[in-house]
Amino acid sequence: MSPAPSAYTNYIGRFAPSPSGPLHFGSLITALASFLDAKHHNGKWLVRMEDIDPPREEAGAAERILASLQAHQLLWDGDILYQSTRLAAYQQGLDSLKQATYRCQCGRQQLLELRGIYDSRCRHKTLDNDVLTSTRIHLQCLSDNELFVAEHYHDLFQGEQQQSLQQEVGDFILRRKDGLFAYQLAVVCDDIFQGITHIIRGSDLLSSTPRQRYLIQLFNQQSHTSLHQTTYPLPDYGHIPIASNKLHQKLSKQHKAKPLDDTQAFDNLCRALAFLKHPAPQDIQQQKSMHDLVVWAIAAWRREKIPQTLSFVVEGE
Ligand code: GLU
Repeated sequence: MSPAPSAYTNYIGRFAPSPSGPLHFGSLITALASFLDAKHHNGKWLVRMEDIDPPREEAGAAERILASLQAHQLLWDGDILYQSTRLAAYQQGLDSLKQATYRCQCGRQQLLELRGIYDSRCRHKTLDNDVLTSTRIHLQCLSDNELFVAEHYHDLFQGEQQQSLQQEVGDFILRRKDGLFAYQLAVVCDDIFQGITHIIRGSDLLSSTPRQRYLIQLFNQQSHTSLHQTTYPLPDYGHIPIASNKLHQKLSKQHKAKPLDDTQAFDNLCRALAFLKHPAPQDIQQQKSMHDLVVWAIAAWRREKIPQTLSFVVEGE
């Protein structure tokens, strides 16, 4: 779980789309914000394809997403990391947390009864090997101080954040009953692996952040007891407002968000910049040069312009 030695010296950001469909205006905003924040700080911007949930994926979506990013001149650094190539690393990560996890056979019904907040009821059960189980983290494996750090942080755009993992989340899943690795585990393994220093993404993931900070601390703790002592500093997090339709639903494939029209890339970028409160000046808008627009936006990017709000309705979506 140790990142490259040079990883800590510079800004490394990332955009991590799920290939469940093509990019839409909402995902363009997230890609653009993470790109501009990285480039404004002379950082690297990586793309990671979150393709570890085949039932939710659409054939060809990963290629369409990459083509859309290119059409919008959001050009990534280095190779793309496909999560589907990282299954052995996730298993290794899971194995290294063995002391802090347990098998759980509960299904939807039990979770509904618990209102979604799992209470460790399977922790002391002895379950036969052939029983289908998920793997959960047992919270309480960190010191009070480490738990505090996981649960309280300053978000670059949303300000002070606080969440009680025990009261608001409960023991969460690292590997699902169907054998697939959970997003929370995979994303943390990869953020560590790639030495990510800044995570800029949509506010719909704000409530996942304490879980991810918790796992990072746990991996750090576990690495201190191994031969390779490495500490991965907690990244900075910034959650931008998400775009929603007039019914206040997040623009998403599920809510039938329109795919981006790549032939209108210049206008799409101008709209996305306006959404992020960085409207391009008239002369740049009239010249219609993608290159000039992107160069202007990188220089003009100011974090303090991003409104401290969770979502905005986008007209016409
Ligand atoms: N794949 C997630 C999404 O498309 C993003 C995950 C992340 O940025 O941590 O919403």
